[in-house]
Amino acid sequence: MTETLMSYDEAIAAFDPAMGLEVHVELSTNTKMFCGCAVDFGAEPNTQTCPTCLGLPGSMPVVNGKAVESAIRIGLALNCEIAEWCRFARKNYFYPDMPKNFQTSQYDEPIAFDGWLDVEVDGETFRVEIERAHMEEDTGKSLHVGGATGRIHGADYSLVDYNRAGIPLIEIVTRPIVGAGAKAPAVARAYVATLRDLLLGLDVSDVRMEQGSMRCDVNLSLAPKGSADPVSGKPVLGTRTETKNVNSLRSVERAARFEVCRQATLLTAGESILQETRHFHEDTGVTTSGREKSDADDYRYFPEPDLVPVAPSREWVAELKAALPVPLREQRALLQAAWGFTDLEMRDVVAAEAVGLIEQTVAAGSSPQAARKWWVAELTRRANEDGIELAALPITPAQVAAIQALVDSGSINDKLARQVFDGVLAGEGEPDAVVAARGLAIVSDEGALGEAVDRAIATNPDVAEKIRDGKVAAAGALIGAVMKDMKGQADAGRVRELILEKLS
Ligand SMILES: [Zn+2]
Repeated sequence: MTETLMSYDEAIAAFDPAMGLEVHVELSTNTKMFCGCAVDFGAEPNTQTCPTCLGLPGSMPVVNGKAVESAIRIGLALNCEIAEWCRFARKNYFYPDMPKNFQTSQYDEPIAFDGWLDVEVDGETFRVEIERAHMEEDTGKSLHVGGATGRIHGADYSLVDYNRAGIPLIEIVTRPIVGAGAKAPAVARAYVATLRDLLLGLDVSDVRMEQGSMRCDVNLSLAPKGSADPVSGKPVLGTRTETKNVNSLRSVERAARFEVCRQATLLTAGESILQETRHFHEDTGVTTSGREKSDADDYRYFPEPDLVPVAPSREWVAELKAALPVPLREQRALLQAAWGFTDLEMRDVVAAEAVGLIEQTVAAGSSPQAARKWWVAELTRRANEDGIELAALPITPAQVAAIQALVDSGSINDKLARQVFDGVLAGEGEPDAVVAARGLAIVSDEGALGEAVDRAIATNPDVAEKIRDGKVAAAGALIGAVMKDMKGQADAGRVRELILEKLS
């Protein structure tokens, strides 16, 4: 059906989207949520397990205090209330990668609730309301071996790695985001990006979406444009789908856009939306059906009998609140002032998701304006061409700073710098090595420059005559000829000086 989908513009002209975002964040604690096993990404399968996280009979869980602290700090940073007393609950269902046959989570007593996070899209601020942030544990990981896609379909056999089972998770759930209209997918992306930056600032998770330490479920529904409940006046919510485990910022936006088009196409044709989970495919940009999901899915929640309630004292919560880092908005204002960027420049930097990259590039010695120029203009374009996020480009802030240092020292100019970027991105090594291997350094040999200037004058006698007559502006044509002759590897300012010296 994808070939017959409505366009996004058509879809959004007829329907209002409502979104709910559920973000799972793995906490970077030293140990797991309910046992002393180490949390270490990439360890040999099943080397970080014990009777508790394997769910063996008789094993008893103990709550990780550091994880509770992180959960409270996240709640406070999201402007939430912090529960005075709350319990864990058992969420019962069977999955082969969940050996206890229940997940220890929180149900009707989350640690944090009723908060908000402001996000910016095109200079406009949207307030995303946070319903709750609760603590739970991650499941293990199934590896499907033998198939082409890594999915269970077509696989010869499956293996389970329980290293991830029991890693502390925080699930952050928004209230329905309505009123964003055509910007809804961009708001979803900006929300996840802002949340990621906030969590980085709190130093509670490494928030690597590509490694799954932060993942997002995108709930989306459509209602006819302008429809409102006659009693409450609130927007009507249609039947929603839940696109699971979207693992990049770009995919969050694409998945939301796709669902808008898909659902609008069905609704316009008089069909109804099936309430279900869906999977997003990075390669094709489409979502496909997962399993049907009703609101009445019965997980038989009940309070976890093996764990004492969590009752953080108000003094401790106040202490944690006082020690929170400066809020993102203020941090950005401080950075903007320190960098001397205009509002528009800073807005572009935020939109390009380049704040952290520029911060690191400046820390590595680049001027803020140069760092901005390379990341926002040059590298954002290349990332878009490759269909990847800026941070996923194979170049580091230190390498960008090193290229700018070569420009600052006069070894290369901006035009040559672009070729150095080509080389670094192509995996040809560090900037210095690329300059040497590709022979990109500016020719500072005065003799060679002088000869090139003489050649340009000889082949453009009419231009030379104008300059001799005092029309200095004509020098541009000769500079261009010299630069071409030198394959761009000359200092244009020095070339100009030489031309004027020779023709005065
Ligand atoms: Zn364990």
